[in-house]
Amino acid sequence: MKIKGLIFDLDGVIVSTEINHFDAWSAIAEQLSIEFNEADNEKIKGLSRSDSLDVICDLGSIQLTYYEKLEYLELKNKMYLDSIQSLNKDDLLPGVLHLLKQAKKKDLKLALGSSSKNAKYILQKLFITDYFDVIIDGNDVESPKPDPEVFLKGAEGMGLNVEDIVVFEDAESGILAAQTGGFYTVAVGNRKLKNCADECIDHLGEFLLKNYE
Ligand SMILES: [Mg+2]
Repeated sequence: MKIKGLIFDLDGVIVSTEINHFDAWSAIAEQLSIEFNEADNEKIKGLSRSDSLDVICDLGSIQLTYYEKLEYLELKNKMYLDSIQSLNKDDLLPGVLHLLKQAKKKDLKLALGSSSKNAKYILQKLFITDYFDVIIDGNDVESPKPDPEVFLKGAEGMGLNVEDIVVFEDAESGILAAQTGGFYTVAVGNRKLKNCADECIDHLGEFLLKNYE
């Protein structure tokens, strides 16, 4: 395979704010008197904020009104944003910056494909916004992962065919989305995905562009 473009998921691939999400969702679950643990958290990884809240409410067999739901979504986001304020380039996961730089040198197109509505804010905090030709985030898509829309829009923005693009993902919903879209998939930092992704690595530092020329 000769790679022409790379699409990166954000959380769990470029930076890890999983713990920040988990803490915020735990606080919400507690307010709703719903038990929520690390195993439950696996079920919402990669999902949109709204879908995540639905999963948590299902765990407690609770039904919120439309307005209650909006309130909890806003509160969760506020707690999360407060907790990631101090994010900076030291928080980049291993190998990220090196791979971005190498890819730019080789004139590859780079895109972000994230479900997060805070993706642009986080990229700014990490000082890596300028590396990306295309940024597709939770504000740009109608159908969240595992629908391939976020990645297909990334490919379209880069002007490339899906078969020339590698997608890096840490969540099952994201790998499924990329596979459905016809992309080459690399699971990052999640060995449980080794049977469903084309490749599985611990971090981006293990991905060598020279093997795909
Ligand atoms: Mg992720």
